[in-house]
Amino acid sequence: MKTKAYRKLMLVPGYSCNNRCLFCINYDMRGMKPRSTVEILRQLKAERANGCNYLEFAGGEDAIRPDFCLLVKTARRLGYERVMVATNGRVFSYRNFAEKAVDSGLTDIVFSVHAPSEKLHDRLVQAEGCFRQAMTGIENILRLFSGTKNTIGTNTAITKLNYRELPETGRMIAGRFGICNSEFIFADPSRGGVAHNFDMLMPRISEAAPYIRECLAIGREHFHRGIVENLISNWAARYVPLCYFTDFFPFQISDARENIVFSNVTHSTPEGNVADYLKARREVNRRKTAKCESCVLKEDCEGIWNRYLDVFGDDEFQPVQDIDIRERKIKYIKDFLSCR
Ligand code: SF4
Repeated sequence: MKTKAYRKLMLVPGYSCNNRCLFCINYDMRGMKPRSTVEILRQLKAERANGCNYLEFAGGEDAIRPDFCLLVKTARRLGYERVMVATNGRVFSYRNFAEKAVDSGLTDIVFSVHAPSEKLHDRLVQAEGCFRQAMTGIENILRLFSGTKNTIGTNTAITKLNYRELPETGRMIAGRFGICNSEFIFADPSRGGVAHNFDMLMPRISEAAPYIRECLAIGREHFHRGIVENLISNWAARYVPLCYFTDFFPFQISDARENIVFSNVTHSTPEGNVADYLKARREVNRRKTAKCESCVLKEDCEGIWNRYLDVFGDDEFQPVQDIDIRERKIKYIKDFLSCR
């Protein structure tokens, strides 16, 4: 079998941000001192020497750093094949900045789009005008990436305040912008904004799942094409228990897909490094229950948030008994690798 495509460095230069998203996992860390340029450049070099060839900037809003374009340019010079940033999109609404960032070598940009309307999006991110700026940012980058192999994507937090709007959000992303690379992320109550505002933000999976499923179905056609065209493209849900999404497993479940696409992910934050993030993610913050013992997907499933189970229990979860699902996964993986 061929090797996996990318070894990824997920780099958090700091947590400073120009938004105040209610659900932000780094809600309590925005005041932390960001890492210096020298420190980040040293790490980029060291992780490249370790074999990392895919760099993801996570934050915080990294694009507001004065050295952002320098960091991107240097990463590409060092040999990172792809450099991606996740952004709230606001600074990309300024055409000069968007051009400079693309010229510096960004290959993939993921915009946060949390609702199909200005009113709800701006409420979720606690920043008036953010929706309009993000839409302009997407339009700028679509124009600048046109005719290249670069990718543009979106991510959407799934909370109690917006899960009913997911299908409309998906239709806007795919229909208005033609974007087929989108992730829908189930709220994480382990820390940050959702931990602080659990009752307001944490949805029940049994109530949110029909909307998430409808949204995933919108991207199905794009997703099938995406396997062949681009390893990075996907239209998937993250952090969801598999029993509600067996027909979207593995490629439309980000956690499962990541285990196929990336050989390893190093997570680097101002607090320190996690050398094998995929492994750590399975072992910290989520667990399975006694019910999961008889589930055929228990090895693939990363379980349910500890806090979620502590509050709601496991009544909603039904062990999967269909053994064909695993066979289907093996076939998908073979097809996937043969397309490379
Ligand atoms: S292991 Fe548990 S949570 Fe995961 S799919 Fe099976 S029953 Fe659901």
